[in-house]
Amino acid sequence: MLSDEQVAELKKLASPAEQAEEAAKAEKREYMKQKQRECRERKVIKEVAEQCATIDEWWAAMRKSLGLERREELEAIDREARDYIILMTDGWRIAPNEDGFVKPSVLLKWIDSFVEEHGLVHDYWFDSEHLKEMLSFKVWTDESHAKSKALGKPKPFWWDPPRLKALCEEEGQATRDFALYGYYTGLPQQMWHFFKQNIKNHAAERKCCYPPECWSCKFEKAHRIATPTAL
Ligand SMILES: [Zn+2]
Repeated sequence: MLSDEQVAELKKLASPAEQAEEAAKAEKREYMKQKQRECRERKVIKEVAEQCATIDEWWAAMRKSLGLERREELEAIDREARDYIILMTDGWRIAPNEDGFVKPSVLLKWIDSFVEEHGLVHDYWFDSEHLKEMLSFKVWTDESHAKSKALGKPKPFWWDPPRLKALCEEEGQATRDFALYGYYTGLPQQMWHFFKQNIKNHAAERKCCYPPECWSCKFEKAHRIATPTAL
């Protein structure tokens, strides 16, 4: 006969193996759930894409397929991203003594930490071999480009399964969220890149590469103040 202590001792020995088995089962359940979710999502994407002739219809229909909690989560990040987008495009209009003015050096820090946390919506450089083969401005074509002879009448991206798949699976979460739902859960890559580059080039060499007038040029003209003093 085993004593109570001996039984307890044996149970202790058995439990790591049992725990591992339980963990493996839980992992498998989670994996199956994830696969089912992806399968449902692919079905929704296919059905919705066929019915939507415009990008606004596509995004609106896809947003409806999201659960309320997930939708609110994405909307909160999108609101923050759009604030940064406004500051990167039109922030130069705000004078240093006005409400809402953000020093470019501070804005650079904010956007970099946002990008570090949330990533970029790829619209210029792509990871996917399929998208790299396309001209970058053709990747995000919508219904307004579909009739353009100059562009070769490209299909809207949601009607082009290989392109949509590459945007959703090979370019990171922010690109996926934008392709499927039109939410900026990261910053637009091209805008972010040129904004940063121009602020730095302008401050360092007073030479701005792209576009001809950068954020700092416009700021200096609008407020008759040299950007470095505001940096
Ligand atoms: Zn400039």
